[in-house]
Amino acid sequence: MKIVLATGNPGKIKELQTLLSDSDHEITAQLDYGVGDADESGISFVENALIKARHASLHTGLAAIADDSGLEVDYLGGKPGIHSARYAGENATDQENIDKLLAALDGVPLENRNARFHCVIALVKCADDPNPAIFHGCWEGRIADAPAGSNGFGYDSVFYIPDLGCASAELSASVKNKNSHRGKALRQLRRQLRRQLI
Ligand code: IMP
Repeated sequence: MKIVLATGNPGKIKELQTLLSDSDHEITAQLDYGVGDADESGISFVENALIKARHASLHTGLAAIADDSGLEVDYLGGKPGIHSARYAGENATDQENIDKLLAALDGVPLENRNARFHCVIALVKCADDPNPAIFHGCWEGRIADAPAGSNGFGYDSVFYIPDLGCASAELSASVKNKNSHRGKALRQLRRQLRRQLI
């Protein structure tokens, strides 16, 4: 069965195709159908993931999957949250976002720097599916006071994981995938698709 993935990000398409390579589902990209980005007007990860999945399904007539993820920092009242990609401005680079985050936490002691990544994946059978499946992965850590490591992307270099004793950017892709918010949500999705519930 064909499922459209609501993203223009080739990395995410490849990741999902690999993860589901042993299933009956064929993952295609919304761009292959000429579908552009949805307006992410929600105020939560769940809402934005659903908006994107419904949009892709509406314009393709297929079941659709979308994800939304970001970083929640307790001391900042949950920011940058759904605005993680553009925390320092509309076209901000990862470095600019990290600089803004470290400045916002300047002088804040270790015990108040708790944070977590969230990844929400929405799966809809059709555009107006009244019972979408929602998968949520979470990864607990804290914001370091200086970057470390060069793997990954986004906030990985300042996301310190006490259990592993290092920053996310110091992990290999496979160790990150075993522990990360995205890995957890994707494995839930895979279990659901293997049960053929769609
Ligand atoms: P997206 O919704 O997956 O595009 O992620 C939104 C933003 O959240 C990214 O641009 C990153 O800034 C941040 N983010 C999400 N997941 C990660 C991660 O695994 N590592 C570092 N940053 C992340």
